[in-house]
Amino acid sequence: MMGGALRANSPEAILAAALFMLAAFVSILIHELGHAITGLRLGGGRAAIALTPFGGLAFNQGCRFDRTQRFWMIAAGPGAGFAFFVLLVAVLCLLFDSSDVLGLVGGILFDIPFDFRSSELLSLLREKPFVYLVLNHLLWINFWWGIINLLPVLPLDGGQIADLFVRPQRRVFLLGVIAAGAMAVLGFLWLHSLYVAVLFGYLAWRNYQNMREVRWP
Ligand SMILES: [Zn+2]
Repeated sequence: MMGGALRANSPEAILAAALFMLAAFVSILIHELGHAITGLRLGGGRAAIALTPFGGLAFNQGCRFDRTQRFWMIAAGPGAGFAFFVLLVAVLCLLFDSSDVLGLVGGILFDIPFDFRSSELLSLLREKPFVYLVLNHLLWINFWWGIINLLPVLPLDGGQIADLFVRPQRRVFLLGVIAAGAMAVLGFLWLHSLYVAVLFGYLAWRNYQNMREVRWP
């Protein structure tokens, strides 16, 4: 759905949607491995990862973390994605002209127009459009999903970090309502994405429901 499979009406478009799924699968797995491996290193029990249609979950069995340990375990998910992003860019910089690579990354992430200085990277992307597509998705997902996931909205990682430090818990849900509501409006008006609007509208509503259920102490 997110990779354009619903509109795919040619073999190329179906392959493109499959490549999006591959890039998303790899990216979510890296994110969850960041949580799980950090949990293990902090002395957590057997780690498990569940991949779900809208993301994933990592948990350790039979252990209790203190607040600092929980913080590092939560931060390690987005951290693993950002580290993978930096690694990808670094490898590309080793293989190709680095100003071309940075121009390409700026174009993918922020729509900044640029001209290629040398032809090596450009000709690779022209000759192998599917390499470009996978690269595009891997860079985009590991950067933007990482940023969005850090918004203070439960159950996103940013919301879980807020839940460690903000008390009473009603304030965490209030923060979630505001941030998710703002993201839904921004997604609809600025990004023109119905998907972002619906997802964050739903999260805002869930946080509002939770806010009403918990009582002020
Ligand atoms: Zn996470």
